[in-house]
Amino acid sequence: MRLTRPALLSSALALGLALAACDDPVAAHTAPATAGAPASAPAASGDDPWLADVSAMVQADAGAGRRVAIQHRLDALGIAWRDVPFKIDEESGTNVWADVAGAPEAPLLLLGAHSDQVAQGEGATDNASGSATVLALAQRLKARPLQRHRVAVAFWDLEEKGLLGSKAFVAATGSPKPALYVNFDVFGWGDTVWLMTPQADSALAQATGTAVQAQGLKLSAGDKYPPTDHLPFLKAGWPAVSYSLVGGDEIALILDMYAGRKPGAVPKVMQVIHSDHDTLANIDPAAVARGVDAVEAALRAWDAQPVAQTGMP
Ligand SMILES: [Zn+2]
Repeated sequence: MRLTRPALLSSALALGLALAACDDPVAAHTAPATAGAPASAPAASGDDPWLADVSAMVQADAGAGRRVAIQHRLDALGIAWRDVPFKIDEESGTNVWADVAGAPEAPLLLLGAHSDQVAQGEGATDNASGSATVLALAQRLKARPLQRHRVAVAFWDLEEKGLLGSKAFVAATGSPKPALYVNFDVFGWGDTVWLMTPQADSALAQATGTAVQAQGLKLSAGDKYPPTDHLPFLKAGWPAVSYSLVGGDEIALILDMYAGRKPGAVPKVMQVIHSDHDTLANIDPAAVARGVDAVEAALRAWDAQPVAQTGMP
């Protein structure tokens, strides 16, 4: 997830910190609010492949190491992958692409997440959580393919430098236009599946509403959402949505901050991402397990609709 300047400024104001050179020694020493740890410590990752994938990514070196962790997991799943190097805006990076299942002529459902992280923290929530969610869905959709769509997954590089990996993919000659691109960014805890969709009453949004309810979660669907890798798709006129899993009470506060308004309180997401708090300790694997089940069910329900109804997400 990218942090924009208005969001940073609101965060600094709400935490009582100055943004840059601080000439107020009192403010300078105001301790930032610490993000609350989940009620129970994360379970040992041995019995939870999602958590094991997040752990492997946070323990890897930033950049290439995180990609290698993803590639090892794809190898273990028997899913062939390829590096897709790119150059854009004078930056070079490497996306990872893997075809998961389905007939080559079937319309493409593309799932993706950014694999890179900022220098602060371990990038557990932003965005090992999203990458591990894509890996979990890849495993399930390989084991039991969709009826009407082929599935591929992509892990984008350099999201934090301006959505560069996804931009490069959309811009590249020959990139397949998906029937739908589904992005995952910040999928780490909470009671609410947050769906960025240009169309809140779409087939996928409706299917997601039903699926989250079955998991004891809530749905928040709408077109206001922080910048992440769905944007280059939408800008090209390609159907795209993005999922997060957060606390429902965080969403209005997050949107306030991205709009440059001072929020009533700093939501957990904004205390965690791009900071030293972005560690495994702030992840809630039990909540994520419900979220992944819900998204899988929603995608299967969406896929089962007649194709004419799934042209738009
Ligand atoms: Zn981010």
